[in-house]
Formats: sequence, C-alpha cells, structure tokens
Amino acid sequence: MIDFHSHLDLYTDAISVARETSQRNRFTLAVTTSPKAWVATSRILGAYPNIKIGLGLHPEIVEEKAAERDLLIDYIRNAEFVGETGLDGSKRFRSSFELQRSIFTSLLRECTAQGGRIISIHSRSAATQVIDLLNTYPDVGIPVLHWFSGSESELKRAIDRGCWFSVGPAMSCSASGRKILRLLPLDRILPESDGPFAVVGKRPIMPWAAISVSAEIARCRNLEVGEVEDQFLENANKILKQSKSL
Ligand code: MN
Repeated sequence: MIDFHSHLDLYTDAISVARETSQRNRFTLAVTTSPKAWVATSRILGAYPNIKIGLGLHPEIVEEKAAERDLLIDYIRNAEFVGETGLDGSKRFRSSFELQRSIFTSLLRECTAQGGRIISIHSRSAATQVIDLLNTYPDVGIPVLHWFSGSESELKRAIDRGCWFSVGPAMSCSASGRKILRLLPLDRILPESDGPFAVVGKRPIMPWAAISVSAEIARCRNLEVGEVEDQFLENANKILKQSKSL
C-alpha cells in the first residue's frame, strides 16, 4: 500500500525486498541514514518509479558521520525527499545533541533556500526542540514527524505548526503509542514501517505491512479499517501533489 518511512536499504536482501515493495506498495519513501548511503541506495534502488529515496543523516549517528555534513547540505538541491533527519534527546545520544542541532538547523536552512522539501523527521525525546526549530523555519516545506512520541502538549504544538505524522504498527504496541494514534489529525497521517528497525513479534515490519496500523486507528476511533486505509491513500495523494508544487 504505502510506507512513508522505511529503511529499505537496511533489510537483509534489500534488493529483493525492494522488488517486492515496488510490486505491493503504491508508494514507498526509503529514508537513508547518511548522504553516502543516499547516493548508493539511489543507484541500487532508484530505478523503481514508486520508490523514492530520502537524503538523510540520522541523528543517532551524527558523530560517526560528521564528515558527511557538507555533502548533506550540497545534495539537498538534488533531493526531492529529505530524511531521516531530526534530533534525539535520549540519554544515549545526549553527548551529540549540540552537533545534531547544528546539522539539523543547517539542513532546515538549506531546505528553505531550495524552496522546501518533504522532510521525514525523528524527534525522540526532543519534540519541543524539533518544533521550536520548525517554527524558526516556516518555509521549510512539509515536515513529517515519524513515530511521534512526545507529550500531548508537544503534539498540539506540532499540529499547530502544520506538521504531518507517519505512524506504524509498532506504535500500537504501547499505551503511549496508542494514545498518540487516538489524538492525531486523521487528515495528516501516513503509514510507515520504520523497518527493519521497528519490529512486531520479533520480526521486522515489512514495507507492505505498514498499512496494518489502520487496524488500531480504526479500533480507537470507531471507524472501519477500510475507511482508515482510504484516508491514508487520500493523504498520500495530497502530500505528493503538494511535493510537486514545492
Ligand atoms: Mn527510522
């Protein structure tokens, strides 16, 4: 169906997963974790017209990949989609937080200069800081917060900022994830797998299974699964159309 945040290049046997994804999904955004990975993945998986490759620098690895910072900014000009990027304020990555912030700020500034991009954004334990920066750069394009896990008031700020949200089956596994699924604006949500990192029942979520998050959304909002799937499709068409006009 649709997967708006997949690490397609990181599955075991990525080439055959990509082939199957292209057959089964209408649209897939394959985010990458570094500019060099974006180049390599575009070369290997870029031939499928319904798979787009996002240019990223994952906040969890900015220290290791700091040397690719200039490449990231240079390549934005040629990237239709950007991600994975963002901030991670959890304890494990606290030491790189200022570097993360500096790189994410440069990225937002360049996306603005290039007329805006669709940007898939990580905001674990840093939703406030991500939204503050997005407010500083109002013309950055369309921010899509992936696997949002902030507080209710942070969620409200993100909604007020105009953010979109990509949500996946792994969010149905926790009470806090289910609460977010209940509160999100239905006209700004997109399905995501975040596979192979995200797992359900110890198995990585496949890109064509992202849509199964519809079941939990339907349950908690008193809708039919088909209605949620239709909404996802409508939303995807809308955001991709907007992307063309950026
Ligand atoms: Mn991810």
